[in-house]
Amino acid sequence: MTSTLSKIVLASNNAGKLKELQSMLASLGLELLSQKDFSLPSIEETGLSFVENAILKARYVAKETGLPAIADDSGLCVDALGGAPGIYSARFAGVDTTDSLNNQKLLRELDGVEDSQRGAHFRCALALVRHAEDPVPIICEGVWHGRILHELSGVNGFGYDPLFYVEELGKASAELSPEIKNQHSHRAKALTLLVQQLA
Ligand code: IMP
Repeated sequence: MTSTLSKIVLASNNAGKLKELQSMLASLGLELLSQKDFSLPSIEETGLSFVENAILKARYVAKETGLPAIADDSGLCVDALGGAPGIYSARFAGVDTTDSLNNQKLLRELDGVEDSQRGAHFRCALALVRHAEDPVPIICEGVWHGRILHELSGVNGFGYDPLFYVEELGKASAELSPEIKNQHSHRAKALTLLVQQLA
């Protein structure tokens, strides 16, 4: 690891994502600051893909802080909805919405859809820029497959976790401990790749 990367800002104001990224990066001996430490508002995510939005957010935070930045853009892609809500996952039910309203909307949209058609995946794009105009951002992606439940289950995590059933673990994501989620999730997979690249 180079010394220039010892301090990194996590470009997110999402408390759930920050907690996960911070705990996954804790062992690397990096000083992890959050966008909140700089009182930076979020910027509009105008990209058309997870990767574009991750780069956009990382560049913005690197520009405003003068430090290297890691940004995550992630969301849920539901097969029966043609991949929606996708990059619009955070605002599925409206601009100033809540996780609960997003989950209710997802349940409504999948009303009457049987289990075999309820496949979905979480996707995460991570972008690391060393400075705002970095011409070679490091990009890593992770995917986590599952299916959408018919009702909420579990209280851990955030976002769509209570509706995301992980076949191989036999549980909803919100029923997993943070440690287990951080071993399997889309974010964990992307981050493992990022750590390998940094090494
Ligand atoms: P972003 O801040 O634009 O990346 O929005 C990501 C949105 O996708 C979140 O607000 C959640 O709704 C959803 N999401 C992303 N990752 C997860 C996860 O690990 N669990 C549950 N929902 C997630």
